[in-house]
Amino acid sequence: MSETSRSLNFIEHIIEEDLSKGFPKDKLRFRFPPEPNGYLHIGHASSICLNFGLGLRYQAPVNLRFDDTNPINEEQEYVDAIKRDVEWLGFEWETECYASDYFQQLYDWAVMLIQQGKAYVDSQSSEEIALQKGTPTEPGTESPYRNRSVEENLRLFEGMKEGKFKEGEHVLRAKIDMASSNMLMRDPLMYRILHRPHHRTNTDWCIYPMYDWTHGESDYMEQVSHSFCTMEFAMHRELYDWFLDQVVDEDKVRPKQREFARRNFSHTVVSKRRLLQLVEKGVVTGWDDPRMPTISGLRRRGYTPESIKAFAQTIGIAKRDNVVDVSLLEFHVREHLNKIAPRVMAVLNPLKLVITNYPEGEEEWLESENNPEDESAGFRKIPFSKELYIEQEDFKEEANRKFFRLKLGGEVRLKNGYIIKATSCTKDEDGNIVEVQCTYDPKSKSGSGTEESLRKVKGTLHWVSVKHAVEAEVRLYDRLFTDETPDAHKDKDFMEFINPDSLKVINAFVEPSLAEAKVGDKFQFQRMGYFNVDKDSSPEKLVFNRTVGLRDTWAKIQVKN
Ligand code: ATP
Ligand code: MG
Repeated sequence: MSETSRSLNFIEHIIEEDLSKGFPKDKLRFRFPPEPNGYLHIGHASSICLNFGLGLRYQAPVNLRFDDTNPINEEQEYVDAIKRDVEWLGFEWETECYASDYFQQLYDWAVMLIQQGKAYVDSQSSEEIALQKGTPTEPGTESPYRNRSVEENLRLFEGMKEGKFKEGEHVLRAKIDMASSNMLMRDPLMYRILHRPHHRTNTDWCIYPMYDWTHGESDYMEQVSHSFCTMEFAMHRELYDWFLDQVVDEDKVRPKQREFARRNFSHTVVSKRRLLQLVEKGVVTGWDDPRMPTISGLRRRGYTPESIKAFAQTIGIAKRDNVVDVSLLEFHVREHLNKIAPRVMAVLNPLKLVITNYPEGEEEWLESENNPEDESAGFRKIPFSKELYIEQEDFKEEANRKFFRLKLGGEVRLKNGYIIKATSCTKDEDGNIVEVQCTYDPKSKSGSGTEESLRKVKGTLHWVSVKHAVEAEVRLYDRLFTDETPDAHKDKDFMEFINPDSLKVINAFVEPSLAEAKVGDKFQFQRMGYFNVDKDSSPEKLVFNRTVGLRDTWAKIQVKN
């Protein structure tokens, strides 16, 4: 679907309505606000495509804002990874912003609220505060410290900032309404003491602002017009607005928070906390393990930015939570790779094939089209000789008429080469077939124009010349979880559903043109799927990841089980 032909989503309707009511188009401004406490995942891709997509649609700036108010879980490594991923997806931010750059302004505003009697220092423990919260139907209880004098509040708050108190000794709370029907309005926390160095402000601060106090004010400082977040913040909107009310200047843009549904994806988890667990427990090799639903994992697996964006565009923006089937993401990468990936030959489970009537020591270089979907991709030469590898599953001694591969007495065409006929096979002591002997028809060479070359046979097999083959490690991946919604079980932890067979490593033989392949290069291994070169690859040892198979085999397997 092209950007102009699709209908507007509900987020765009909100913007259109604001514009129709006179909001100036040149004041539109958006942001994508990740917390640097992990790597971005496919759920974030939705939010990135939404915000940066709006930027492109309305030619409005989009900031990349790091919501870095919790030094316990945040790290520079995550900041770097997030920037890399957003860039890789192909988006450009206007300004790289950090909530931590606003710590002083937020502090000054907090002092102002104290002076106006709208914030106070509470000296109760977090347990005591929690007990006073009340329930949705019963009002909360006011803190005994709620009516401290402005002077005492100022003195204590300054002491908190100066590091005079231990963690948990005091907090700063907004003085709103302990009887509000919205529990979040019952004197929410604004600051807590944390004697932790921050990845950017180091030890400058030992009090850190809470999300609610930070987010709207950051939007305001950056003059973000529309602040889109996921549905769990819907109840926070009232507080977002209350905090804005305290600081907004009439001549300036007042940010507007609106919510959309968080996306969940089948057979995986998308929560940085859970993904971190997979990394820390060694279930995967790291945040960029090709089985991870992270942007970096998908990149390493062989996904393209185009396929991820097309996927995000297809699933669109929803108002309600739902689970998106990951096979839709696979569909999109298959579609894109079909257009761009050169076709090559690789044998994953090799079986030796000897052409008994082919001259000993001879070799030919056969011409092969790189990509039938892309004329500009051109041609390359692949070596052919007396001894070849074919896939084990492509040969059977006997088979019924529906088996269009090779069987004794049967014929197939070797891709870009000749028609062959299997004559005999050799077995080891256990009865496994270890070699197949065949004859070839020298006049049947593909593209030679002879009558025999045009002769149709049912099956075509891919192959690699034994003498020229390059050995490669191939990593075959399956779903990381056996359950469709691993984190949606009340009585079971998501870790219980880890698929023990999510990675299979094999040794394969690939055609020699692949010896030069670089990390990230993408190919279609004919008849086997799409593969790319892993970062573990070296000239001494090629390593490929299977990005996705050629067809959606998963659905079929599911039915069979
Ligand atoms: P996580 O639980 O994975 O840590 P988060 O919401 O805490 O997610 P943030 O770094 O705060 O992660 O997210 C940045 C932006 O991405 C937010 O606006 C958030 O709402 C959005 N986002 C995060 N996860 C999803 C998801 N699964 N679907 C859509 N948007 C998401
Ligand atoms: Mg978060």
